[in-house]
Amino acid sequence: MMKHELEKQLEELEKKGIDRRNFFKLLAAAGILTTFGTEKVKAFSSNAKGKIVIIGGGAAGISMAARLLSWLDEPDITLIDPSDRQFYQPGFTLIASGVYQPDEVWKNQEDCMPKGVKWIKDSVAGVDPVWNQITTVNNGKIPYDFLVLTPGLQINWEKVEGITHDTLGVGNANSIYDFEGAQKTWKALQEFAKTGGRGLYTDTYTKHKCGGAPKKICLLTDDYTRKQDTRDKVKLDYFTASHELYDIPYFTKRLLEIYDERNIPINLNVRLKGVDTATKQAHFEKIEKKGDEKIVTPFVKDYDFLHFTPPMSAPDFVRESGLGWTEGKLAAEAWVMVDKNTLVHQKYSNIVSLGDVAGIPTSKTSAAIRKQVPIAAKNLISLMEGKEPAEKYNGYAACPIVTDYGHVLLCEFDYDKNPDISFPFTMIDTSKEQWLAWLLKVYMLKPMYFYGMLNGYA
Ligand SMILES: Cc1cc2nc3c(=O)[nH]c(=O)nc-3n(C[C@H](O)[C@H](O)[C@H](O)COP(=O)(O)OP(=O)(O)OC[C@H]3O[C@@H](n4cnc5c(N)ncnc54)[C@H](O)[C@@H]3O)c2cc1C
Repeated sequence: MMKHELEKQLEELEKKGIDRRNFFKLLAAAGILTTFGTEKVKAFSSNAKGKIVIIGGGAAGISMAARLLSWLDEPDITLIDPSDRQFYQPGFTLIASGVYQPDEVWKNQEDCMPKGVKWIKDSVAGVDPVWNQITTVNNGKIPYDFLVLTPGLQINWEKVEGITHDTLGVGNANSIYDFEGAQKTWKALQEFAKTGGRGLYTDTYTKHKCGGAPKKICLLTDDYTRKQDTRDKVKLDYFTASHELYDIPYFTKRLLEIYDERNIPINLNVRLKGVDTATKQAHFEKIEKKGDEKIVTPFVKDYDFLHFTPPMSAPDFVRESGLGWTEGKLAAEAWVMVDKNTLVHQKYSNIVSLGDVAGIPTSKTSAAIRKQVPIAAKNLISLMEGKEPAEKYNGYAACPIVTDYGHVLLCEFDYDKNPDISFPFTMIDTSKEQWLAWLLKVYMLKPMYFYGMLNGYA
């Protein structure tokens, strides 16, 4: 639907005095356009030995396998994952807004698996970190010397009363946190823009992948209805379980202005409790604190279109295997208990964990994983060599918040919630939405993912 936009925008770029070939060269030089310009990272090698098992072959697991293959002289790597397909999940938002076709966001897992990795197509049911072995569903027990824990996260649809994975789309209750769900959302959104009515958008109270995604689909609905000339027929409301819309101050200011300019009220401290898909009613709880007292006020809203974010947690086997945090903010969802700098498990020093499952205080995005992989891989090799892990991750994550068809607020930040902007975006005002960032998001990040990151490129 929007492919021709690239051409239009490159013309704009030229008008602004930046030659389009140089623009792409600039991105390549910065390592942003990995596929077109950078080389495989081979500046380091080790003859460390040991059987490495990787649980989960998504963004983090496949990238780790590729990186370890390139850095180890004699790699012995087994990867366990049941999936037939590798999804570029950031593309789900763009399917739900008609920018991508569904077939553009996935490839056969077989084609993504790095050569030299032993792939066991199975699910892990448990880990015994004392005896260093894994229990699989169909292949019995598998021993390891070193473990890379990257099974992503578990979506707990049922924690929204009235919802299961199978009900997605029923009663116009939609979610882009699922491949089919994103396709249903696009259909429903187009219909909603025609019929008009009340649209409700929610995030959730647990840590969730891409904290920006619920905001993106809300803002894209707004812009889509403007483009259809039906914005005055819809009323949009955003509900967040948090006490603020976004917690990175450098970007929050502009985001709040955008919601205000677009006339989308923000409701704070509100959790979606359940959905009655038959009557199209969303059941909420407003949770406020007065001193030590927690005041819960239930309320119900009618809707015509609902986009909700389901609660998420570490997969059950992580909790059951005693690998998750048992105290602190990350304990309730059992995110893996790793050191936030080294990504090494706090209790078992032959385990590293990264990606969505890792219990670290940053955003769960593939952009973050791109920075975590070299740190986790080098530290794992140090452990294999009997050395202390020395590489440190600063919490870098990026969340490109699509604010309309043509602009993205490119939020890049670190553990301290300070902006951590990548070149060449340091040359523009990143506290505001930019169309250069839209080009990056729509045209470059996907090839970077499939051809760059998953192949062990920087
Ligand atoms: C709607 C949406 C929008 C997003 N937008 C962005 C964005 O704009 N920018 C960005 O950077 N990120 C974005 N993300 C987040 C990004 O996609 C994730 O952070 C990233 O995919 C996580 O990678 P992972 O390897 O940790 O998990 P995944 O990629 O989910 O992979 C987990 C793998 O583990 C396997 N697995 C699961 N359980 C088991 C088991 N028991 N045994 C063996 N294998 C198992 C699965 O089959 C899967 O292959 C978005 C995500 C969504 C859903």
